[in-house]
Amino acid sequence: MDNSLVARIFEQMGTILDIQGADGFKVRAYETAGRAIRGLTEPLARLEAEGRLDEIPGIGKSIAEKIRVLLSTGDLPAYREIVASVPPGIVRFLEIEGLGPKKVRRLWEELGLETVEALKQACQDGRVAALAGFGAKSQEKILKGIEFLDRNAGAILLGEALPVAKALLAGLRACPAVRRASLAGSIRRGKEVIGDIDLVASSDDPEAVMDAFVALPGVEETIARGPTKTSVHLEGGFQSDLRVVTDDQFTACLLYFTGSKEHNVALRALAQTRGYKINEYGVFAEGSDRPESISDEAAFFRFFGLDWVPPELRENRGEVDAAARGALPELLDPGAIRGILHCHSTWSDGKASIEQMALAARARGWEYLGISDHSKSAFYAGGLDERRLAEQASEIDALNERLEGIRLLKGSEVDILDDGSLDFDDEVLAGLDFVVASVHSKFKMSEEAMTDRIVRAVRHPLVTCLGHPTGRLLLSREPYAVDLGRVVEAAAASGCWLEINGNPRRLDLDAIWARRAAEAGVPILIGPDAHSVAGLDDTEYGVLTARRAWLGAEGVMNTRSLDELLEAIARRRNPAARGKRS
Ligand code: CA
Ligand code: CA
Ligand code: ZN
Repeated sequence: MDNSLVARIFEQMGTILDIQGADGFKVRAYETAGRAIRGLTEPLARLEAEGRLDEIPGIGKSIAEKIRVLLSTGDLPAYREIVASVPPGIVRFLEIEGLGPKKVRRLWEELGLETVEALKQACQDGRVAALAGFGAKSQEKILKGIEFLDRNAGAILLGEALPVAKALLAGLRACPAVRRASLAGSIRRGKEVIGDIDLVASSDDPEAVMDAFVALPGVEETIARGPTKTSVHLEGGFQSDLRVVTDDQFTACLLYFTGSKEHNVALRALAQTRGYKINEYGVFAEGSDRPESISDEAAFFRFFGLDWVPPELRENRGEVDAAARGALPELLDPGAIRGILHCHSTWSDGKASIEQMALAARARGWEYLGISDHSKSAFYAGGLDERRLAEQASEIDALNERLEGIRLLKGSEVDILDDGSLDFDDEVLAGLDFVVASVHSKFKMSEEAMTDRIVRAVRHPLVTCLGHPTGRLLLSREPYAVDLGRVVEAAAASGCWLEINGNPRRLDLDAIWARRAAEAGVPILIGPDAHSVAGLDDTEYGVLTARRAWLGAEGVMNTRSLDELLEAIARRRNPAARGKRS
């Protein structure tokens, strides 16, 4: 039983006890335990084997005992008891924005609501609004929250799924019966939120491949198994489908299941005009049931006079046409990233020191790392005031003296205040190497006020880049209301960069807006928004999003050398040197 599953069990126990109105101390003990386990870098089984369970901060005697039971029996009677004490549906209520345990309990006890469906109905009937302490506004909000939940049902963040998918793929490729194997579906296209993990393999012995698949680490149970398709549940609540075909069929199958559906429709239409039919088994000349011999994807596209279309572009957004004209962009290569500018350290809410982050950046082959801790208004995140910012600058100077092979840049993720002014004076900002400006408060402004606020910051010459421009949190928070068209226009006119925030919960800008911004001439910065050493690797998701935005190295500022980067920042700061724009 892996750490995340154990953590989930304790978190659920805490949640249910909270709904039941249990003692706050008890609730917190489970929540703390869940968090502590998620933060571990070693498997619980090893800690238990070495008698170190009791040393985990945040885990008391009684929880440690429960972990032992879980590890040795795979089961916990206390957990089953608690889960059985409430209808399963009401635990999901907590996923609805604006509903805390106390409200959930009242909806359950006073209105007898036990499923999200019943809650939705009660909102539509006005029964929730009639409940003391709820009201029409609150009812409206719950209804909106349910709609959000419905829309995102079965959805998983790319950042959660991709590491799991890569491990599955590696496991499959290690199976001697597998000839070729690939990711497919939306995860291969790098979509920010996916439904399940699709895999395609070729083999002369599909049974052996299926045997290997269901035995891979992380597979919890087999949902369905057949000679060509097997579906499994994975730890962490994912589903994965594996399709196994002959090697002749592999390319057609991979294309078909990589999608997107819209891309496939466009390909089929093109094929039809040439007298061919495409399906998941192959390419067939009209009237023939013998497939054309096509070795791989490049050969497939070539067969129809197209350049190979990278999976990230297969969304029917002009890629088939561009491939026919030889006009596909050369997409950003992850290896072209030479440094990053958006990360946090222990000076604000990061988990690693500046030095640890610097060494990790150097180990990733980067030339520079920009430190951008929060500014003073982000007090909840340990934001720095002017004095601490100056102290931090001294530390960075000292580190730059001492460290070889990496250059640290001084920056700030400065809050954009309600009126669009910035959290530091110009004089302070001018002393920094770069400035990322972001909205972290007052999300509920009108679209017009929010757009004015952001545009004002974007026009400020000392703002290098606008951070996470829409503020969305995938699967949990809608973007704030903002007219991105106006923001892009302002950025293009003033030379401000826009971020693709690589944090897998954000991926903000998204691919569509990043593409529009880049086409308008706005420089794009990929920022992992790292709060730990591991967070630096979120750059990967930012790169995938940039690729989905049709971006090559040219449009992305992280591909610049240190000198080029500093020069670009200087040009942004000094409009006179930037040349005239009408
Ligand atoms: Ca899928
Ligand atoms: Ca699937
Ligand atoms: Zn931020």
